[in-house]
Amino acid sequence: MLKELKGLTASPGMAMGPAKIYSKVDLTITKEMVEGGTEKELERLKSAFDSYLEKLKSTESDNEVQASVTQAHMELLSDPYFIETASGLIKDEKVGASWALRETANQMAAMMESLDDPYLRERGADYRDIGQNLLYILEGVDGGDLSHLDEDCIVISSELTPSDTSTMDRAHVLGFANDLGGKTSHVAIIAQTLDIPALVGMKTVSQEVEEGDDLILDADQGLLLVNPDKETKKVYREKIHDREEERARLEKVKDKEAVTKDGKKIEVVCNVGNLEDLKEGLKRGADGVGLFRTEFLYMENDHFPSEEEQFQVYQAAASRLGQSPLLIRTLDIGGDKSLSYFDFPKEDNPFLGWRALRISFDLPEVFETQVRAILRASAFGNVKLFLPMVVSVDEILEAQDRIASIKEDLRQEGIPFNEEMEVGIMIETPASVLIADDLARYCDFFSIGTNDLTQYILAADRGNDKVAGIYNSYQPSVLRAIKKVIDAAHGAGKWCGMCGGFASDHRATYMLLGMGLDEFSVVGSQVAKVKDLVLGARLDSAQAFAEKILAAGRLDKVEKLVAENPIQ
Ligand code: PEP
Ligand code: MG
Repeated sequence: MLKELKGLTASPGMAMGPAKIYSKVDLTITKEMVEGGTEKELERLKSAFDSYLEKLKSTESDNEVQASVTQAHMELLSDPYFIETASGLIKDEKVGASWALRETANQMAAMMESLDDPYLRERGADYRDIGQNLLYILEGVDGGDLSHLDEDCIVISSELTPSDTSTMDRAHVLGFANDLGGKTSHVAIIAQTLDIPALVGMKTVSQEVEEGDDLILDADQGLLLVNPDKETKKVYREKIHDREEERARLEKVKDKEAVTKDGKKIEVVCNVGNLEDLKEGLKRGADGVGLFRTEFLYMENDHFPSEEEQFQVYQAAASRLGQSPLLIRTLDIGGDKSLSYFDFPKEDNPFLGWRALRISFDLPEVFETQVRAILRASAFGNVKLFLPMVVSVDEILEAQDRIASIKEDLRQEGIPFNEEMEVGIMIETPASVLIADDLARYCDFFSIGTNDLTQYILAADRGNDKVAGIYNSYQPSVLRAIKKVIDAAHGAGKWCGMCGGFASDHRATYMLLGMGLDEFSVVGSQVAKVKDLVLGARLDSAQAFAEKILAAGRLDKVEKLVAENPIQ
C-alpha cells in the first residue's frame, strides 16, 4: 500500500530500493556506586579512551569525509577537559566509568547545542557520537555500523551519527531517511559531500517503515514513498535513469572552460570555508575560488587565529590554485555567526548591527592580522581580497588606507606580497546598490551576495521560516538591483561576480548571463551544471531573455518566464 512520508532535504537526489532498518544497540547504564577505591574505574575509563584513539588512528579512511570525521573525533578525544571531567565525576561521586562517561558526553553535547553558532552547535552531535562509541568499548558491546552491507538498500533510522554516515558502505547505501536531524546538520553535510540522497527530520519514519519495504526516496521533493504502485515505480525508474545520464554527461563537462556559444568566457568558481571544501570544489571542476568564507577559520578555533595560522591556510589554498583566482573575504562575523571566545554585545537587530567590516574596523588588530596573512599569501598565487557588508565609499577608502599601511609595514620588513593584489567588495546591502556607480570607481571588482542582498532589500530575515515566502531572489526588486550593480561595474571597466546562493540556482543562470554577470561562484555540486548552461547559451539571446524578465515587474510573471525557459 502506498504511503507518502515527508521530510527535509538533507542531500538531493533519488533512489529506489528495499528498506534497511538500522538502530544502534541501546545500552542501559545504571548509576552504580563504586565500593572501595575508584582506581579501577579510572583505569577502565582511560583504557577506553586509549583504545578508541588507537582504533581511530588505525582507521583507513576510504574517503575525505571519513578522514575529516575521524580527525575531528581524534581532536575532541585528545582534549584533556573531556577525560578530566569524567574522571572528576568518578572520584567525586564514586560512580562507575560508564555512568560518568555518559553524563560527561551528554553535558558537553548539551553545552555545544546551546550555543547560537550553528557550526558549533553541530559539534554536539560529535560529542554524543564519541560518548556512545566509548560506551560500547567500556561495556564490551558491538554497537553495529553500516560499513559492510550485503545488498543495496535505503537506510531508515531514528538518527545517524556522524561516524555512521561517514563510514557507511557507499557501494550499497542508495540513500537514507531519519526521524531526527536538520538540513544543516553534520549528517546532512556529510550526505551532500558523499552525494547520497537523504531526508532528515521525518519524525516517525523509523516506526512507519518496516524492514524490506519497497521504497522510493525522492530527496529533491522531500518525499519517501513506501510500497508504491507499479506506475509510480515506472515513472521514478525513468527519472532516476535520466538523472544518471545527466550526471554522466556533466562529468564530461566539468573540466571544460565555460565559454558561451558567441565567445564570452565566464569564470565558474566555487565557495569554500576551508581547504577540504577547496579540494572538493576542484574535484568538481571549479576554475578557482570566488568566496573563501574566512569566518570558519575563526569559528573553529578557541582564539582569534594568529597571522601565522591564517597564512598557513591561505598560502596552502593559493599554492594549490596557482594562477586560478582565490578570492578571500575578510572576516564576516556577527549577524547569525558568533565566536565562542569573544563576547558579542546583545543587540536587538544583529543583522543590522555590529557585523562584518564594522567589527573589523573596530578591532584594528584583528583586521590587520588578517590582511597581513592575506597579503603574504598573495605572493603564492592569484589572491584577491574583498570586503563584506560595504555601505559607503568611505568604508572602501578606510579599508584601503589600512591596507596601504599594512603593505608599507610588509615592505619595511622585507616580506613579499603582490603589490597589485585586487581589492573588491561584496554588494549585499541596498546602500551599495544605490551607489554602485561610485563604489565601482574605488575598487577592483564586485561580488554580489544575494543571500544578504535579498534579505535587506525585501526586509525579510534570511533565517526566519515565518518570512521564507517573502524572501525570494526572483523578486523584481532584487533582479533590478542585480542588473544595476552589474552595469555599474561594467561602466567603470570592472568585472562583476556573484557568490550568494542565487549563483548556484541553475534556473537563474541563463538570466544572470544575459544581465552580464562575469563570474559565478557556486557550491561545488553546481559547478558542472552552470558550466554546461554557459556552454549551451548565446549571449545575445540570454540578454533578450533577461530584458524580458527585468521588464516583467511582478514575481509571478518572472517565475512563469523562468519556468518556461528551456535553458536551465
Ligand atoms: C551573501 O550574503 O550572499 C554571501 C555570500 O555572504 P554570506 O552568505 O556569508 O553572508
Ligand atoms: Mg553575506
